[in-house]
Amino acid sequence: MKNKLKTIIIFDRDGVLNKDLDKGVQDVAQLEIYESHIKSLKKIYDLGIRFFIASNQANVGRGIISMDKLNHINSFIKKIFEENGMSIENFFCCTHAPEENCDCRKPKTGLIEKIKVLYPNYDFIFVGDSISDYEAAIKSNIQFALVGTGKGRESQKFLNHQLFFDDLSKFSNYYFLKLKINEYRNKHIEEIINTKKSNDENIIKMANKIVDCSKKGGLIITAGNGGSSAHSEHLTAELQIRFENERDSLASISLTSNSCSLTAGANDYSYEDVFIKPFSSFVKLNIPIILILFSTSGSSKNIIQLADFASKNNITTFLFIGSQKSKLQKYSDFSINDSSNRTCITQDIHQFYIHSLCIAIDHFLKSGDS
Ligand SMILES: [Zn+2]
Repeated sequence: MKNKLKTIIIFDRDGVLNKDLDKGVQDVAQLEIYESHIKSLKKIYDLGIRFFIASNQANVGRGIISMDKLNHINSFIKKIFEENGMSIENFFCCTHAPEENCDCRKPKTGLIEKIKVLYPNYDFIFVGDSISDYEAAIKSNIQFALVGTGKGRESQKFLNHQLFFDDLSKFSNYYFLKLKINEYRNKHIEEIINTKKSNDENIIKMANKIVDCSKKGGLIITAGNGGSSAHSEHLTAELQIRFENERDSLASISLTSNSCSLTAGANDYSYEDVFIKPFSSFVKLNIPIILILFSTSGSSKNIIQLADFASKNNITTFLFIGSQKSKLQKYSDFSINDSSNRTCITQDIHQFYIHSLCIAIDHFLKSGDS
């Protein structure tokens, strides 16, 4: 993920990275750095986020401290980041006194605009503690996070800002999770886009067979364990009730939906055989049956047993499995599989294909050309 994220976090300095003082920090000796908060930024930094500072330092314009003194203080803060494995790329400071009426003193936007011009394709978030930080961010049309250190709590009484955090480390935890969710979203989309084209073809073939089976008075039976049992019941619900179009019910049952049968079978026989007896009760009806099995690992013993039993009874079987080579494959007429090695992504892909299957079924039922 590193280098893919084009995001810059701009921090205000005093009150966010270090304790704010009434007359401003005038010497390195006065610096009280919130080092534990700064340390917490490492997990964000390691994901490829870049850090900048935008700070009002009017003490220079007022003649209270020299430019050299300001640079010395900033260098000390920069060093703390470096000691913790991070880098601040640049300090953008407004050194004008308020009466100079410059364009860069926050709440004016000069400092932020300067960074935006340098990095035109980046997203920005400004982290500050004051109302002027908030106004500068909003006027620059970038996101703003308010921290409760420095003037933060007082500012929050006035702003009631949604992105408010007790301190920088709380912000860091929030932002890290936000990036992880975004990473998962991108991975999810990428995996679905890259899924094998043969899956699409197999979905169409499955839908055709399901509609054909239903027209002949047949039954669609589904099964899976854990999250896959939810997929099995979900598909059965789509078939029994409807998908997007109004249509007649298709006969379907999930072998996971009767907890009495499941627990009795597991208790009296074994969990490996748990689906066999309920399934065989439908086979005895001597009607067309399609069995649809979900197993992300492809190695669930009760699913393999069931597939083997179905095969011996010449039942058409469809599979939704993951990336692993599976014993199940030899029993399947058509299968959906993916290349992800993460169960959660495989499950998301299965969900995507359940709905794809429903689209195809609705189409065949409506057009009558199955
Ligand atoms: Zn200025």
